Amino acid sequence: MTKKMDKSLNTVTHSGGCHCGAVAFTVKAPADIVATNCNCSICKATGLLHLFVSKDEFQLLHGGEALTTYSFNTHTAKHMFCSTCGVKSFYVPRSHPDGISVNVNALDKSTIQSITITDFDGQNWENNINKLRKP
Ligand SMILES: [Zn+2]
Repeated sequence: MTKKMDKSLNTVTHSGGCHCGAVAFTVKAPADIVATNCNCSICKATGLLHLFVSKDEFQLLHGGEALTTYSFNTHTAKHMFCSTCGVKSFYVPRSHPDGISVNVNALDKSTIQSITITDFDGQNWENNINKLRKP
């Protein structure tokens, strides 16, 4: 048994959603999640832990009509939250406008093996964004 497995072999389908159950989705990602903790004003306020995925790795099962969208500043990010319970389980981030940021805290833990958290200094977004966007 080799311990260094290709990360892609480790891909599972995680389930997630909001608290009241109106919004539900699945996302294909490694069982060993690399999450990003951002200290910007809105991420701190919502306690969101990011898992960045592409749009084809994300599938909204239901609840699109339950979502309310909030945007501010550049209005690139679409902060979507459940209009019933207020939970922001995923959204379109400014850092990855063609992708999705899934809130790791809103995922079903049964498919998660480990979570490695890396910090992103979102208070100085413009100076740090290139470090977050991997080539
Ligand atoms: Zn809800």
